[in-house]
Amino acid sequence: MRTENISFDVSPRIVPANRRTPITIRPRYEHSVFRDGAEYVISHFPAEELLKRRSGKIPFTFRVRATNGVLTFAPFFDEEQEHVLWVEQLEGEEKKPVGDFRVYSLQDDLFRRLPFKGDFHLHSCRSDGREAPAYVAGASRRIGMDFMAVTDHRRYEPSLEAQQAFADVPIDLRIFAGEEVHPPDNPVHIINFAGTVNMSALFQDEKAYRSSVRKLQRTLPKAPSGINPYQYASCVWCFQKIRESGGLGIFCHPYWFTNHRYTPPGALTSYLFETSPFDAFEIIGGFHRFEADSNTLQVARYHEERLRGRPIPIVGASDSHGCERGELFGWYYTIVFSPTLDWCDLRQSVLDLYSVAVEALPNEIPRAYGPFRLVKYALFLMREVFPQHDELCQEEGRQMLEYLAGAKGAAEALYSLKGRTAAHMRRQFAQG
Ligand SMILES: [Zn+2]
Ligand SMILES: [Zn+2]
Repeated sequence: MRTENISFDVSPRIVPANRRTPITIRPRYEHSVFRDGAEYVISHFPAEELLKRRSGKIPFTFRVRATNGVLTFAPFFDEEQEHVLWVEQLEGEEKKPVGDFRVYSLQDDLFRRLPFKGDFHLHSCRSDGREAPAYVAGASRRIGMDFMAVTDHRRYEPSLEAQQAFADVPIDLRIFAGEEVHPPDNPVHIINFAGTVNMSALFQDEKAYRSSVRKLQRTLPKAPSGINPYQYASCVWCFQKIRESGGLGIFCHPYWFTNHRYTPPGALTSYLFETSPFDAFEIIGGFHRFEADSNTLQVARYHEERLRGRPIPIVGASDSHGCERGELFGWYYTIVFSPTLDWCDLRQSVLDLYSVAVEALPNEIPRAYGPFRLVKYALFLMREVFPQHDELCQEEGRQMLEYLAGAKGAAEALYSLKGRTAAHMRRQFAQG
């Protein structure tokens, strides 16, 4: 965390664009106090120098005296961008640096949305992961996720198990239903996220499943040569079923290199992009460091498809097979910009292209992928806002895991933490 953000509260952090908003900088500890009556110079740099209201000499400067230990001033925040507020204390002719504080101004559509972190693809020991489904949920909160689902291979029930384990305690992590869908004889991996349908159960009556795919296949335009029409029809069938049940059908890791080749075959991948039967594309998937080519290709593919004018909703996901292995878990996730954490809002926000995928490898500065304005804003959030959010989540996640372990007092601790992270996030936004 940047030292300014440890020693000071800046409030609000996120403000509406093209308006004047009062900002307060409040020291948190004795070692960083503002001396009452002392004079401070604040240099305001709109970081991209995007100006709407006026021309003028950048930086815009304010001279402010500390009152009751805090600095308050009201800059005009032009356009949608990050703002640097560089604070120095005046001592006679000398200026002593205090800190570099950051604020972000947003256009209305984004200002009305909160940023939520989520993992759309995680495994538990009910398929080939390590820990129980509920443990995966608790561990996800511990690393700052606001929502997730256990998406085991061919199994929907483990996701419900994760929900049920916390049915008797208040938690702020949203745990959704889900599964990784592997239709028979179809190499495409599909995530059913939050759908009410149990897809894996539908394949148990394989005869019925195959006949309904064949029926659908007859209604589809003829697939180009090189594509197995059954496999394509099966994808369309699955995505339709997931969508009908209110879920998000995610096209997973198309550039997974396995058995000496990428899977699924390139022609099928291309046809899926061309016809877009899926709801969202897993642009950043759970690849190990040695598999970095796969995510690089998925990002390149996304940009190329966008150039063709295709809107492509995206998610990033860890595809983790163990929370304590020191790999994948927490490396990749999604930030969804949504009015609320309710599923209908989250789902619609992803579909409306209000999401970015994040790659946050250990000891590296996180990167975001997706629409330019959201990437820009996400970088600010990951540097200035999420570190505090994640610390709050860590405590909740720890108590969730304690609760699963049967620890006394964990349920009470969860009661007392309820709503705290959400309230903290709302406070980052300017009121009214
Ligand atoms: Zn998979
Ligand atoms: Zn998986």
